[in-house]
Amino acid sequence: MNNTDIDWSNLGFGYVPTDYNVRCHFRDGKWGEIEVSTSDKIDMHIAATALHYGQEVFEGLKAFRGKDDKIRIFRLEENAKRIRSSACGLMMEPVPVELFKEMVLKVVELNARFVPPYGTGASLYIRPIELGMTAQIGVKPASEYVFIIMVSPVGPYFKSGFKPTNICIMREFDRVAPQGTGRWKVGGNYAASLSAGEKAHSLGYSAVLYLDPKEKRYLDECGPANFYAIKDGVYVTPASDSILPSITNDSLMTIARHNGIKVEQRHVTVDELEHVDEAAACGTAAVASPVGEIDDLDTGKKYVISKDGKPGPVTTMLYNTLRGIQNGDIEDIFGWNTIL
Ligand SMILES: *Cc1c(COP(=O)(O)O)cnc(C)c1O
Repeated sequence: MNNTDIDWSNLGFGYVPTDYNVRCHFRDGKWGEIEVSTSDKIDMHIAATALHYGQEVFEGLKAFRGKDDKIRIFRLEENAKRIRSSACGLMMEPVPVELFKEMVLKVVELNARFVPPYGTGASLYIRPIELGMTAQIGVKPASEYVFIIMVSPVGPYFKSGFKPTNICIMREFDRVAPQGTGRWKVGGNYAASLSAGEKAHSLGYSAVLYLDPKEKRYLDECGPANFYAIKDGVYVTPASDSILPSITNDSLMTIARHNGIKVEQRHVTVDELEHVDEAAACGTAAVASPVGEIDDLDTGKKYVISKDGKPGPVTTMLYNTLRGIQNGDIEDIFGWNTIL
């Protein structure tokens, strides 16, 4: 039942207030009780490490309502593991997997009326964050943390249809350092990507395709999404220490293999784009966002991927299969959904 006055079909990707969020504090060496809050504010010390030294990690996952009216949460265990890895990367206290799962289920259950109806293309976005809370001026890890999960209903990503957009390569910006924080989901990486992203948007591109920050020879990822290409029928996606391991990319690779498509995770050079049949940016927000053209702004080279302005057949199949599993329309043979 959705008893709210939200216009589901016109929902964007903004913050929509819901009834509750859930929180848990790490103090005196242990995690406390789960707290349910109706406030969308937090009370924190002005000297907290999250504010001064960027001790902040986050996650993003979604819940979907099926035709059967049941709510399905996609691969939450993977997000639980990844935020632990991110936390360890920034010397933060990792949230136990069981606590993460319990809190996700609780916050979705409490806000069930905000899980959009089946058929609208909308979903409930689940955003866990962890912050270093200790008041200190010296540069060292906090001893106190808070883990919060907020949710917000979000509209369908492809409002004007599932179709390709153009992206660009720019060598003047790096998102992360070669042995830096790229493999972890940290807010600071996003702050570091804003100037490149805004420049790309102002030039009419939907995203930046970053190159590896060391040699600038290999493809890394598309800002907040991984990148893959279909080349001679093979699913090719960059292997790199400076990209975030996307759960969507992992899911698409699994679906590809299951459909007899070979998968290669390896270094991919910029030149290889010359011989690519399809390409897409993949992540929770869009699943797969097909790429029409990739413009290298430094060399002037334009790689035309989609000749007819339509998504390719492999990307379309992968997208439909993954969305079908999330909605409960296609059998969840990989056991990815947690049904509420
Ligand atoms: C979250 C994120 C992705 C996508 O990961 P998913 O698990 O598929 O949502 C890709 N790259 C970066 C940098 C990210 O932060």
